Amino acid sequence: MNAVADDVVPVDEAERTAWDRGELRPPAEIAPGLWCIPVEIPEGTLPGTLAYAVLGGDGVHLIDPGWDTPGNLSRIEEALAAAGRALSELATVVVTHHHPDHLGLAARLRDRTGARIAMSSAERRVLGVVVDPAATDPAAYRHTVERWGVPRDRHAELLASFTRPSLTGDVEPDVLLAHGDVLDLGGRRLEVVATPGHTGGHVCLADREARLLFTGDHVLPRIYSGVGIGVLPGDEPLGDLLDSLDRLAPFDAFTVLPGHEFRFTGLRERRARIAAHHLRRTAEVAALVDELGDSPVWEYAQRLTWTAGWQGLDGFWLHSALRQTEMHRELVRSGRARAWLSPG
Ligand SMILES: [Zn+2]
Repeated sequence: MNAVADDVVPVDEAERTAWDRGELRPPAEIAPGLWCIPVEIPEGTLPGTLAYAVLGGDGVHLIDPGWDTPGNLSRIEEALAAAGRALSELATVVVTHHHPDHLGLAARLRDRTGARIAMSSAERRVLGVVVDPAATDPAAYRHTVERWGVPRDRHAELLASFTRPSLTGDVEPDVLLAHGDVLDLGGRRLEVVATPGHTGGHVCLADREARLLFTGDHVLPRIYSGVGIGVLPGDEPLGDLLDSLDRLAPFDAFTVLPGHEFRFTGLRERRARIAAHHLRRTAEVAALVDELGDSPVWEYAQRLTWTAGWQGLDGFWLHSALRQTEMHRELVRSGRARAWLSPG
């Protein structure tokens, strides 16, 4: 087996190859009574989500069932049939976070089977904020654009890109999870590890006995997932993300079962790589504080290094750059960045 990037080693090289080709692999039993079921994402750039099914004497339990499409419902049904089980046996749907490529199918599965839906109580609050009409209120966004100090002639393109109806429906979970809770599913004990950052209430699930870690979108083998995509007011998603990466240290020797791409080992190296990826920009912001002080986000953003170049950023990408800058500035301003930026 070869390390592909960042010292990450795929468990099965064919999974990585399939991902790179944009193909969904057939469902497969990856551990006794544990199946990986790749499901589609109908829009965007990622080919799919990795759903996981735990088959037990107490029923079938799904982790992150994926986007709500008829094709995905069939995929899950057929995978269970291949394993000698039926969709009607579904007892639990656990989600790592509320995004449509993870939570999407949960409510439909509950309607069909009566399964219970479990998510963290923090993520339930985040979902409440995300589906609130206020979250997509252009007047509130205009206020943000002004606070960022964006020049008048750039307001229109930012507001035009602000057409993002929530893709996630409101879902009331049956079970609320908290850090440290243990779910007993099909004979596996899955420990809930709070890992806010990607969203405000994201969780990972650790099977200590089998040394498996379900990481959702918190840790992916090569992709750097976005930060703060659904948070509570006052959250500091970047600082939370860095804390959440540290929190996984006890599981460094576990096999990682992520929400996208492929299963891998090398969590310690990957955690370090993700932290370093974000902290590069934090360090850039920190170096500007003496000079720029309380200047608005716009003044900072145009001094940072952007892949597309600052002049090349427009519309949604300009928004994204400004939001990222704001998060790094918050991290520096709160003093929380110091622990990570200081050498040693
Ligand atoms: Zn995802």
